[in-house]
Amino acid sequence: HSTTPPTTPPTTPPAAKAAPAAVVATARDAFRSGVTKPYAWRETQLRSLRRMLIDHELELAAALRADLAKSTDEAWLTEIGFVVNEIDHTLRHLRTWLRPRRVSVPLWMAPARAKLVREPLGVVLVIAPWNYPLQLLLAPLVGAIAAGNAVVLKPSELAPATSAELARLIPEHLDRAAVHVVEGAVEETTALLAEPFDHIFYTGNGAVGRVVLEAAAKHLTPVTLELGGKSPTFVDEGAHLEVAARRIVWGKFTNAGQTCVAPDYVLGTRPVLDALKPHLVAAIEEFYGADPSVSESYGRIVNERHFHRVKGHIEPHLVHSGGRHDVETRYIEPTILDGVTLDSPVMQEEIFGPVLPLVEVSGVDEAIEIINDRDKPLALYVFTERAQTMNRFVRDTSSGALNVNVPVVHLGVPDLPFGGVGASGMGSYHGKRSIETFTHAKPVLRQATRPDTTAFVYPPFTTFQRRV
Ligand code: NAD
Repeated sequence: HSTTPPTTPPTTPPAAKAAPAAVVATARDAFRSGVTKPYAWRETQLRSLRRMLIDHELELAAALRADLAKSTDEAWLTEIGFVVNEIDHTLRHLRTWLRPRRVSVPLWMAPARAKLVREPLGVVLVIAPWNYPLQLLLAPLVGAIAAGNAVVLKPSELAPATSAELARLIPEHLDRAAVHVVEGAVEETTALLAEPFDHIFYTGNGAVGRVVLEAAAKHLTPVTLELGGKSPTFVDEGAHLEVAARRIVWGKFTNAGQTCVAPDYVLGTRPVLDALKPHLVAAIEEFYGADPSVSESYGRIVNERHFHRVKGHIEPHLVHSGGRHDVETRYIEPTILDGVTLDSPVMQEEIFGPVLPLVEVSGVDEAIEIINDRDKPLALYVFTERAQTMNRFVRDTSSGALNVNVPVVHLGVPDLPFGGVGASGMGSYHGKRSIETFTHAKPVLRQATRPDTTAFVYPPFTTFQRRV
């Protein structure tokens, strides 16, 4: 009687990751099958995405904490809850947004009828960055599926925990044939970009933006580029400095300064800057305590490369407050620099970290000149109590958006299109604009056959035709 040797349980090989080309082909088949077009599919997908965010909030928040030390509340406010709001707003209005729009026809064409029908584009590629790795992947997804497209999502490899969590949850909750996640870095993204898409939606830096635009040109693929750059803040004489300081500090140091619409630097006259400084320092202490390194509400720099880059901007002779850092934890203290000039290194690139330079100007005119000498910003902030100052900025500057007396919050208005202009990007999204971005408004014209009113334009031509 022989004992049977213990059998090893059959091992399932790790699911091989499908090659980008195969993923895109699957998405295209799904789109061609027509499954994504009915309103019911779109609604089901949006509700399912909403459920995913609610049911798995804690896992997602933990991933965001692992990547960027975001607190659970901040993760809800700026990422998870943000997308839930975008879904709710979309579900409330989607039927109206999708309704064909009647267009009147010239009299000689009567009784023809014309309308605009919003048709989905097909397969959409969404490429997201690491700083709001959930929001910036899923907010475009909301628009793309609401518009009836199949979607391929490419999360940022620099937020690996969030990328992995989304790659796990999305196939469990959304239509696996039509919505795909491809994780990876340059190699995988390059492979994806070689494939034909019907729209590419890219958020990130301008250097990669150029790579995306070139790849898109090969297939004549339309693109949305959500880029960044330095978003200036001007503080006017007579501005409410205490409120300005609190709002600037909030906008700047949330996510440790790694926000595309964070106030990058502050322009003001010397008296304004000197009066503003104590309020800035007080607001930092109020929000993050005397030692922000132990604050639950203060984030960390995403990786060592960015840590050293941001740390390099802290020139000791310019430090007004803050300036401490710790490479082990990638901590950089909220830092205010004063006496910064336009040729300082910190003024040559988007800071994208918790360092706030104060730059002295002679007044409104010089501030506007400085802004117009540079790339068009993604956002421009003006703190003023004077309508005249506000109107000067509205009329004489160009930016993705202009906010008066508050930074960042324009993102929270779902029907304000969000996007840049010039170097800060092309195209926009959120709310209704997402539907416009991810659909084609197709003219559909129908002419009756009896009587044949088109006969007016048939040859042989007569002078009568010139009058119609
Ligand atoms: P990132 O490094 O995560 O890159 C963004 C995406 O591009 C990633 O998915 C990455 O895999 C991919 N990528 C990187 N190199 C590539 C290459 N050579 N070819 C193809 N794909 C490539 O993020 P980032 O660019 O550091 O993001 C920060 C920038 O994004 C800042 O400039 C910021 O202002 C901007 N930003 C803009 C918005 C906006 O909504 N307008 C939002 C957030 C960030």
